[in-house]
Amino acid sequence: MRQCDNDFLFPFTFTDANQYIRENMKSIMLTGIRAMKMTNVPDPMIVNDTDVLIKMKVLGVCGSDVHYYTSGKIGSQVVKYPFTVGHEGSGEVVKTGSAVTKVKPGDRIAIEPAMPCWECDQCLAGRPHTCRKLKFLGCPGQAEGCLSEYIVMPETSCFPIPDHMSYDEAAISEPLAIGLYAVNESIPMKDAKIGILGFGPIGMSVLLPAIAKGASKVYISDKINERVKLAKKNGAVYAGNPDETDIVKEISEKEPELLDVVFECCGQQEAIDQAIDLLKPGGKLMIIGIPEFDRWSFPVDKMRRKEVCIQNVRRQNETLDETLELISDKTVNVAPMATHRFSFDDTKEAFDMVTEYRDGVMKAMIDF
Ligand SMILES: [Zn+2]
Ligand SMILES: [Zn+2]
Repeated sequence: MRQCDNDFLFPFTFTDANQYIRENMKSIMLTGIRAMKMTNVPDPMIVNDTDVLIKMKVLGVCGSDVHYYTSGKIGSQVVKYPFTVGHEGSGEVVKTGSAVTKVKPGDRIAIEPAMPCWECDQCLAGRPHTCRKLKFLGCPGQAEGCLSEYIVMPETSCFPIPDHMSYDEAAISEPLAIGLYAVNESIPMKDAKIGILGFGPIGMSVLLPAIAKGASKVYISDKINERVKLAKKNGAVYAGNPDETDIVKEISEKEPELLDVVFECCGQQEAIDQAIDLLKPGGKLMIIGIPEFDRWSFPVDKMRRKEVCIQNVRRQNETLDETLELISDKTVNVAPMATHRFSFDDTKEAFDMVTEYRDGVMKAMIDF
């Protein structure tokens, strides 16, 4: 592999005797708070023999991308500009390293954004999602995101999808895998009575597998009325807006013994308080939401008396295969999640819409 010394005169990078890739792919980079710019950057290169060059097809805008867009950080992870976000993607394999066996050029794939080291104590203990050296697409200090025409990923991050699965469905498998992981980590869903507080894409990603796995009653809250409606349409027995009604009172009246498990999916303190009130003794609280503050507060007395169990959910661990099966065999329908579409050129518009929760947006999809 040889790189030309003068990019200006000869803007190509030779990858072998006959092939070159242009050094002018487009990438959308964050350049400041609520600022982003289309930039020409060198095409990514296959470096390791297990690398795969992918042409991006669809990207779903995630709440975490929007956190970086609006505040430049999530907790201790701070953006150094310019930086590319984006991690919910699907694409087509263009070229593979010599040792790649999982995919071949032309394959349509879902992209797993996590790139664990596979060697540390966490990886060896079956917890690659908390890998000590984890690189995650679009995570500051780890890896640039996939808001680019092409990306290079290790083959372990490439999941081929069947012909009948759309690139949208493949991209949505990323958040859905998180919801499925949260459900799998909670309690057996058969006949369970559950609460989902916050019905954004992650709340919906919990709802769909929970119902598929036999949850008997799902109670949902959200502060956006379009989302409340969407929750009712997609199988919730109750959905309410906590700004308009006392959801704890209403749910406890319908379910006097209270709920087996509550999924916190909005990162709001009041949702944690409602969850503790809504859980039955021995119930389980799953915390998935990303708050914009640094500390939760818990009501010790109620939690102690109910012996509430709390589990944090960090993305997902090895649930992408099961997720793709649920989508492929139509056990779950993720189509209602993709509410809006934008071209790659209009990425900023998509981010602004999601930032402002405009027009009942659930997930904005970007077509490359
Ligand atoms: Zn995401
Ligand atoms: Zn590791």
